[in-house]
Amino acid sequence: MNKFWSPAVRDLTPYTPGEQPRLNDLIKLNTNENPYPPSPRVLEALQGEIGETLRLYPDPDAERLKQAAARFYGVETQQVFVGNGSDEVLAHTFQALLKHDLPILFPDITYSFYPVYCGLYAIEHICIPLSERFEIRIGDYRLTNGGIIFPNPNAPTGCLLPLAEIGALLENNTESVVVIDEAYIDFGGETAVPLVKRFPNLLVIQTLSKSRSLAGLRVGFAIGDAGLIEALERVKGSFNSYPLDRLAIAGAVAALEDRDHFERTRLAVVRSREWLMRELSGLGFEILPSSANFVLVRHPLRDAAELAALLRQRKIIVRHFRQPRIEQFLRMTIGTDSQCRALVESLRAVL
Ligand code: PMP
Repeated sequence: MNKFWSPAVRDLTPYTPGEQPRLNDLIKLNTNENPYPPSPRVLEALQGEIGETLRLYPDPDAERLKQAAARFYGVETQQVFVGNGSDEVLAHTFQALLKHDLPILFPDITYSFYPVYCGLYAIEHICIPLSERFEIRIGDYRLTNGGIIFPNPNAPTGCLLPLAEIGALLENNTESVVVIDEAYIDFGGETAVPLVKRFPNLLVIQTLSKSRSLAGLRVGFAIGDAGLIEALERVKGSFNSYPLDRLAIAGAVAALEDRDHFERTRLAVVRSREWLMRELSGLGFEILPSSANFVLVRHPLRDAAELAALLRQRKIIVRHFRQPRIEQFLRMTIGTDSQCRALVESLRAVL
């Protein structure tokens, strides 16, 4: 990097995304996409949008989308904030914590974008270790803080914190924002959105990338008290007045409206997960309990990086994190039944 920009940029550690290769004949189980296509109604909506209207700017408020999300979750439109993937919603959330004089708390093993945002916006933070069983213990989040954030289920562990625990955390933490990143909640947890009525400091972040099969469209949203949402709108308005393009708005509305497709595909993923967990356990893997569309597993006798490379030779990609405590684990996204079978067969062949 040359000398012209701010020296602070030299010290940034950018997020390293999972590999996004061309599919060809690969079985891609590395970045937790949904193995099923989105609702056919999404494709219709996208086609409907492609004609005349791309010439025109989109609605800067994405009002139709906010209404669709509000209907789905039983909240008011002013309680919904939308963005270009939940990554952008998270970025704005961290920007809203800018120059806070208290540290933000999050688990030491969690979505690796959180420390990246803290670095980018110079936000002080404390990483709270997970328990020996890789669980979030709410009792550890009692420090005075500028905000608490974690995914539920956590990533990349897949472990779920029951809703009652989130309620208890909120009872004890009334002076700062509590952000629950529910990217994977539809695969086995109960959303915290109903708690928004009781707790004006709760922000729930969701995405259409996982349970709605729309990772390529980049749509995420946050639900919270109108006061919290208003602050995010202010941050967004200072950044980009058009958060979502016309295709994203049209496709996202259709996805939220097709509840049957949503139910069918998410349940299919849950069934495949249960099957895969039984098979992996039969192969000797240690598996963390998962409520997500992935499993984090370790084979007691085999090196994780080596196993990932052997799977790769068989055209199956899984994710290996070189991070303390989980460097001997692999994260495997739940695929279709036939992809899960292919994974198990390949593992059987290489173990
Ligand atoms: N939160 C968590 C916990 C994730 O794992 C991901 C996906 N990498 C995201 C947020 C971001 O998802 P998206 O930007 O596709 O909505």
